[in-house]
Amino acid sequence: MSLTVLMNAGPWLSVPPPGYGGIENVIATLVPELRRLGVRVVLASVAASTLPADERFHVFDDGQFPALQRPYNQVCGVSQAHLGGVARLLRTRDDIDLVHDHVEAVGLATLAAMGPDAPPVLHTLHWDLAKHPELYGNLDGGDRLRVNGVSAAQLARAPRALREHSVGHVYLATPLAVGAAGRRPVGKGDHLVTLGRIYPGKGQDLAARIARTVGVPLVLAGPVGPYHRPEDLAAAGEEARQNPDVRFFYDEVAPHIDGDLVRWVGTVAGRERDDLVAGARAALFPLRWEEPGGTAVVEALALGTPVVATARGCLPELVEHGRTGLLADAEEELADLVLAAGLLDAAECRREAAARFTPAVMAEHYVGLYDAVRRLAAARHPQ
Ligand code: UDP
Repeated sequence: MSLTVLMNAGPWLSVPPPGYGGIENVIATLVPELRRLGVRVVLASVAASTLPADERFHVFDDGQFPALQRPYNQVCGVSQAHLGGVARLLRTRDDIDLVHDHVEAVGLATLAAMGPDAPPVLHTLHWDLAKHPELYGNLDGGDRLRVNGVSAAQLARAPRALREHSVGHVYLATPLAVGAAGRRPVGKGDHLVTLGRIYPGKGQDLAARIARTVGVPLVLAGPVGPYHRPEDLAAAGEEARQNPDVRFFYDEVAPHIDGDLVRWVGTVAGRERDDLVAGARAALFPLRWEEPGGTAVVEALALGTPVVATARGCLPELVEHGRTGLLADAEEELADLVLAAGLLDAAECRREAAARFTPAVMAEHYVGLYDAVRRLAAARHPQ
């Protein structure tokens, strides 16, 4: 039986995203694999999206990300315009079997308001929800609404109303995992790498301190707030400090940057990113927050780089201590673990990624969840 899914990517960025864009990247990874499995995908996004789909729908031509800087009511206006369009489309169609929604909270609320005749909804949670319990206060009309997490740890921290609607979790995937088991090993350099936006929860300040303690070079890769290149941040001047991530960078990270042992290279992409990570002795994630999904973690494994991290959020689900990485219960242990990481086998990391974190594995799990969501909705509303 063929299945038609409306994939709601929202109005903020095109798919695939032009630069940074976690949710849009997940959708860009998932959709081709779903179509390979025979699922018809109607992509609700912006006109600028280039991801192939069976059908597309949009309200806005370009990603509305800049609107997020505007007053709150204008942000809501953008969401409502997009979701209103999706709701109108759903009312005119009887061939859409399920909505797979990725639009934070408001997506779920709007689709809930459509009532029992609308298709069932699977909403993927992308955030650490313990921090935003208010976002999902009201799940009225919840019979046909289900959610999934990107890790068991993320779901465990979600508000109870959400956990009661959960159908499970699906780990994030990376195209780098495809064929990773058979990929030729690359020569390892001596450096450590941290890959991710510069953010207190990701602990780049700790990474820098650890590198200096153990005397191992560290490359920090990732944007600081909206600034992707060191020269752009330097040119932005004092005003940039209004952004909390910029303040964190200047106050906590920059004092450790000496251009020699510790370097910040800005955002790296494509081949440059892959070579930087593949050639590293370890990928360091000294987390201070409960990482919900960790794309950069599965990317490191796929590139054959062991992960050294605090055992927070999804890390213990993604990394096997002693085989594909080393996990610390306390920050103070990380320096010793960095030194031991060279003993781990890169091939084990690549094998693990090839078995668990490919787009095909992710898509197969989602097809299973679509089936579960539809059966649950049908049981509540027999035709
Ligand atoms: N990333 C990148 N270049 C950088 C830093 C990060 O391409 O310089 C990518 C990284 O490879 C990953 C994503 O940004 O695909 C970060 O996703 P993750 O789930 O690790 O963290 P988030 O920022 O979504 O919390």
